Amino acid sequence: MQKGKKRSWAEPFKIKMVEPLKMTTREYRQKCAEEAGYNTFLLKSADVYIDLLTDSGTSAMSDRQWAGIMLGDEAYAGSRNFYNLEDAVRKFYSYKYIVPTHQGRGAEHILSTIMIKKDDYVPGNMYFTTTRLHQELAGGHFIDVIIDEAHDPNSEHPFKGNVDFDKLEDLRKKVGADKIPYVCIATCVNMAGGQPISMANLKKLREWSKEHNVPIIHDATRVAENAYFIKVREDEYKDKSIAEIVYEICSLTDGCTMSAKKDPMVNIGGFLAVNDKEIFDKARNMVVIYEGLHTYGGMAGRDMEALAIGIEESVQYDHIRARVGQVEYLGQKLLDEGIPIVMPTGGHAVFLNAREFLPHIDQDQFPAQALAAEIYIESGVRSMERGNVSKGRNPETGENYRPALELVRLTLPRRVYTQAHMDVTAEGIIDVYEKRENIKGLKFVYEPEYLRFFQARFEKIG
Ligand SMILES: *Cc1c(COP(=O)(O)O)cnc(C)c1O
Repeated sequence: MQKGKKRSWAEPFKIKMVEPLKMTTREYRQKCAEEAGYNTFLLKSADVYIDLLTDSGTSAMSDRQWAGIMLGDEAYAGSRNFYNLEDAVRKFYSYKYIVPTHQGRGAEHILSTIMIKKDDYVPGNMYFTTTRLHQELAGGHFIDVIIDEAHDPNSEHPFKGNVDFDKLEDLRKKVGADKIPYVCIATCVNMAGGQPISMANLKKLREWSKEHNVPIIHDATRVAENAYFIKVREDEYKDKSIAEIVYEICSLTDGCTMSAKKDPMVNIGGFLAVNDKEIFDKARNMVVIYEGLHTYGGMAGRDMEALAIGIEESVQYDHIRARVGQVEYLGQKLLDEGIPIVMPTGGHAVFLNAREFLPHIDQDQFPAQALAAEIYIESGVRSMERGNVSKGRNPETGENYRPALELVRLTLPRRVYTQAHMDVTAEGIIDVYEKRENIKGLKFVYEPEYLRFFQARFEKIG
């Protein structure tokens, strides 16, 4: 290559089947937003142009995965696809025993019920909505032990998913290790903006875990994305493959819950995997009550086959580099225009900092919720709120939590959109930014009791 000559980059796949998108007008979208109570979760997908609501179950399966769908063995018991899935989990994630579930929260429910006793404390590197709720429903209290930088949208720490050992030790000294059933560690922490934990930090946690006899449960939903960041940011891993790094991360933990709708690129599915036979036996018994027989959990045989293949594809370097690279590309476009985003960009999403984007809206008038609605109206791009609405109310005081991070998440499905879609998305957001002073806050007209962000309805204030 000639010095200084630019070489373009393109997606490492070609398109074999297309899904046409509906183009809509601003007036039409304004009406849709009102009907949806300014909640992007309540929009009809057919009214959305570029759907960046979530990367959950929205990725494009490969031709190999679709071929796997045709190999579904829909036997009630002992489906061959289960054994293929079990092999993939052992080979790529190291865990010995696996219990399939309908999706990640099914695994969280079973694990929390088995491991947590009333008034236990579950430390974690930031909460996740369903994970924390299952911990609380099982009688536990979630304690955030992530480093402070994770709560600072302007900190450029390379591993904002790291555990703060002072916070962890404070908890242990206060309540005792007996009251800590496990430490819950997410890779590429969703709520922190898809930010990774370093291998060094995880190794240190392993030492702590052995010393105090407290297991580590891994939320492995985005482990491959985390492995990519370790490869490019932790020097001693630069020559290791993504597969090797993923395997090492998992080996440092005692089990995992997995939402297969993320990293492994299937539309539905999940599992619980552990190394402890006793926990496995309990989980295998419980899964028949809530999900299905232990060789399918909540999944069809064909879905387990697509998942087994997706796990293997998720650790391919070209794939994961393109995946994380697309997030970086969108983030850079916004940064170039001075739009406030969480830095560095994470593995699965670009997060707009709604506090800085809309400084004139008080947090109890839900700036991130209002911004997500406005972006949809302006551009047809669907994003979601991750802030005061998602965090909910403190059950003791009844007040909104008013979290430090008030964000709008633009989440990229894997292998679905092209770089041109990213350009259009960025342009729409830039237009909203130019008109930001006119955006108004929102108030609830309907507030559900659990996970309120999914179904809440709002109206504009003033
Ligand atoms: C999506 C997700 C879950 C829950 O999984 P579901 O498949 O949606 O039930 C748990 N943890 C993290 C980090 C997630 O992103």
